[in-house]
Formats: sequence, structure tokens, C-alpha cells
Amino acid sequence: MSKDYDFDLFVIGAGSGGVRAARMAAAKGVRVAVAEDRYMGGTCVNVGCVPKKLYVYAAHYAEMFEEARGFGWDSEQVPFQWQRLRDNKSAEISRLNGIYQRLLDNSGAQVINGRGKLVDAHTVEVNGSRYRAERILIATGGWPTVPEFPGSELAVTSNEIFDLDEFPRRVLIVGGGYIAVEFAGIFAGLGARTTQLYRGDLFLRGFDQEVREFVAAEMRKKGVDLRFNLNVESLEKTATGSLLAALTDGSTLEVDAVLYATGRAPNVVGLGLESAGVEQAQGGAIKVDDNFQTSAPSVYAIGDVINRVQLTPVALAEGMQLVAHLYDENAKPVDYELIPTAVFCQPNIGTVGLSEEQALTRYPNLDVYRSEFRALKHTLSGSDERTLMKLLVDADSERVVGVHMVGADAGEIMQGIAVALRAGATKAVFDTTIGIHPTAAEEFVTMREPSHCYRDGQRQP
Ligand code: FAD
Ligand code: NDP
Repeated sequence: MSKDYDFDLFVIGAGSGGVRAARMAAAKGVRVAVAEDRYMGGTCVNVGCVPKKLYVYAAHYAEMFEEARGFGWDSEQVPFQWQRLRDNKSAEISRLNGIYQRLLDNSGAQVINGRGKLVDAHTVEVNGSRYRAERILIATGGWPTVPEFPGSELAVTSNEIFDLDEFPRRVLIVGGGYIAVEFAGIFAGLGARTTQLYRGDLFLRGFDQEVREFVAAEMRKKGVDLRFNLNVESLEKTATGSLLAALTDGSTLEVDAVLYATGRAPNVVGLGLESAGVEQAQGGAIKVDDNFQTSAPSVYAIGDVINRVQLTPVALAEGMQLVAHLYDENAKPVDYELIPTAVFCQPNIGTVGLSEEQALTRYPNLDVYRSEFRALKHTLSGSDERTLMKLLVDADSERVVGVHMVGADAGEIMQGIAVALRAGATKAVFDTTIGIHPTAAEEFVTMREPSHCYRDGQRQP
């Protein structure tokens, strides 16, 4: 390790990817600094995965109280206290912030509170002090984007929505990706009158078509007013303090809060990338090679700021791979195939591998196994929620190439299925696996007859 530098590795951003890389490197004796200007743990811990999942749990209680009756429990309609949920969430996040700080301190990395800026390819400036580093890692994540239109400043994003002073009784959510769908479920569950607008024909672009249609139907059953091919033209504040949205079909909608969930952009503003010769792709993402090296050889980047796959476990994998590449021997590149993912809407989506549409472009001989049912719990709960499961099998190799579920705990179930797919499981492996009874998950090992097939790309009757 060179003595010409203050640090061997200077990490900008203590989020999912930055913390993991810093800790792993420091544990190897690398002299590491981490600059963080906002919150320890980054987006996931503070305004992402963790508070979102806590709010999803909160949202489930309304229907759980309702469903309890069929199981013999009488419950009153209990009032929901937004402030208590919000404050309990904030206390938990403060606890996690402390844990992240301690993890870094105990690893030997030096935490520097402040905004990092590149001065050149070996120098970072924080709070007016300059630090020389042999290598610099940019792990600054992403930031929500809101399109510009009259009144757009009245909308909030996922950065603010968790901490609203008052619970919005009427909410408008704009967007059709993960965040929009998850928050539609949260607010509807918590009792808000919830409208979700998506500019295209059907939300959740990129997911399996049937999954998208199924989720739309289930969300509507749970009271979300889903409107497609629609957008906001303008927003204005009314005399009573509510917001009036003018929509592209000429109608208006009065609500208490408008959440824009229209994507996230790489967080690179003011980072000084040009001073270090770091090239960006269109949209601002930092360009990197297979080992996360940028066009400036001493500068690396991982996580949302490279905009490959915006998921926490991916940022973690990239951080670990980078440290292995820099400080170990024989590190393998990150394998982006078969990344499982869940959307925590109600019911959840869990998915791994290809959608039916994607699978067909690669495997013209495809068998589709499909099951749709009412979960055992709902025979007594009175809920009309349904579950969908799909297995997509390449008929030539018999390998399972895509698995999808919409239903309770789909995210939990899909993690194990992802292991099977990574191991190259064929349909026969699923068939000879004994089920766990009575569960919904056992359906994945008991689907015997394809619901439909494709041969040479043509759907068979
Ligand atoms: P981040 O975690 O965003 O960390 C970047 C850090 O860098 C931040 O702490 C920031 O303050 C800091 N920073 C930025 N610029 C500077 C600078 N110049 N100097 C110093 N510090 C700086 N993913 C999942 O896998 N599952 C989920 O359920 C999930 N839910 C989500 C829900 C929401 C509402 C959102 C917004 C995201 C969610 N994600 C989820 C995505 C996940 O949060 C991100 O993919 C992940 O946090 C990316 O990690 P990162 O290390 O790249 O960046
Ligand atoms: P996404 O990219 O997933 O979705 C953005 C949505 O906004 C799309 O439906 C897009 O439409 C729409 N949109 C974009 N621009 C406009 C516009 N100008 N007007 C109207 N609509 C617009 O972004 P999110 O913000 O939902 O989330 C960011 C990322 O964070 C996700 O992609 C995911 O990787 C991660 N995340 C993961 C979660 C999880 O793992 N459970 C949860 C939350 C976030 P179109 O499809 O037509 O382009």
C-alpha cells in the first residue's frame, strides 16, 4: 500500500454498496475512508427498503383485523395513528444508523461526515479538506426525479413521503414502477383513498404480462383506483390547502398529497466527475467496465450510480466483487443473470428469471405451467384475494427459466426458488421435490400439466 496517499481507498457514499465495500476492504487491512453527507446506510435504510417494508407491514393490519373475524376473533374498527407509525419507524432507523456507524468504526474505516467531491483522479475534498487516495470509489446512489410541469414542486417523492406531518386521506400516486405500486398498496391499506396514474397501457413494464394484469386486478379489488394511459398536466394548491390535479383527459382530482414515483437518476450533481476525467452515459450514470473501473483508472463506481440494476443486494454484490478484485486473487465478475426480485405490493410479486414474453424470444419451445387459486387462509378469512404462480420451462433443455408468483409472501418464497434456478434446476427437479404441506409454495412442485405451450414460437392450441 502506497505511503504517498492518505488512504488506499476513499469511498464516497455510505449507502448499501459503499458501506459493504468499505467494511470488506478495511477488514483486509486496507486504509479506508468513507465520506457521507446525509445518512448512514443510504437510501435503503433511510428512505427505501427498510421504512417501506415497515409501512407495508402496517398496511396489512387493516385487512388482518377484517379477516380475523372468520377465525373467531371479534375486533372493533381501530383507528390508525400515522404519527405513531412514522415516529416508531424513525426511531428504528436511528438505531440502524448507529449500527452502520459502528460497523464502519469497528472495521477500522474512517468516517468523514460531509459531501465528497473529486478534485482529481486521486483527490477528494470534504468540508474544505483534501484527501489523497490511491483509489476512489463512487457509491453515491440515486435521487428521485420529477418531471417539470406547472405545480410540480407541490408533489413529494419517496424522500419525503415517509415523514409527512399528517396522514393524507386522499393520495394521488404517479408512476407505474416498483415505488408507485408499493406505495399505492401502502396508502390504500392504511385507509387513504388512493389513486394511481400510469402513463402507459399497463404498469410494471418489464414484468411478466400476466403478472402485471393479475396485480392490477388484485389492487383494484383492494380499492386502489388504478388509471392507465393518464398523466398529470398541472397541480395547484386550493384555498383549503388540498391539491388539485388537472389530468390529461381533462378531468381533475382533489387530494391531500401527490407522490411522484417516476424513476431515479444517478446522484452525480456537484461530484466533480469532469475534474477526474470520469465519463458518464446518457442520463448521467457513471460508465464502468466489468470490474467497476471508470474511464479514470484510479476511480471506481458501484450501485445505483452506475444504473445497472437498482437493488440493494446488487449494490452489495458489486461492492464485494470490487474489493475481491482489488485486494484478492481470482475474483469473478458479478453475474447479473437470475437476480430474484420482489415488489411489496398487495399481494406481493416475487419473480426470478425471464417473463413469458422474454422467454419466448430465447426459447421457441416453451412450456408454461400456471396455477391460480384462493389461498387456504382465505377460505375462512372472507378475502377474495387470489394467488398466481407460473413456471416457465425450456422444452428442449427442460430447464426452468422463469418463475413468477403474485401472492402472500411471494418475496420470501422466491429466494429459495432463485437458488434452484441458479443451480440449473430442471422441471424434473421441481417434480421430484417433495412439497411442504399445507403451503402455497408447494404448488411450485406439484404443477404437472402445462397450461399452454409454444413450439417454434407458436402458441399451441
Ligand atoms: P445509496 O444507498 O443511495 O447510498 C448512497 C449514499 O451516498 C447516500 O447515503 C447519500 O447520502 C451518499 N452521498 C451521495 N452523494 C454524496 C457525496 N457527494 N458525498 C458524500 N455522500 C454522498 N431495493 C431493494 O433491493 N429492495 C427494496 O425493497 C427496495 N425498496 C426501495 C424503496 C424505495 C422507496 C427506494 C427509493 C429504493 C428502494 N430500493 C430497494 C433500492 C435500493 O434502496 C437501492 O438500490 C440501494 O440503496 C442502492 O445502494 P447504493 O449504495 O448504490 O446507494
Ligand atoms: P421505476 O423506474 O421502476 O419506475 C418509474 C415509473 O415512472 C415507470 O412506470 C415510468 O413509466 C414512469 N415514468 C417515468 N417518467 C415519467 C414521466 N415523466 N411521467 C409519468 N410517468 C413517468 O422507478 P421507481 O421510481 O419506481 O423506482 C426506482 C428503482 O428503485 C426501481 O426500478 C427498483 O430498481 C428500485 N426499487 C426496488 C424496490 C424493490 O426491490 N421492492 C422497491 C422500490 C424501488 P414507463 O414504464 O412508461 O417508463
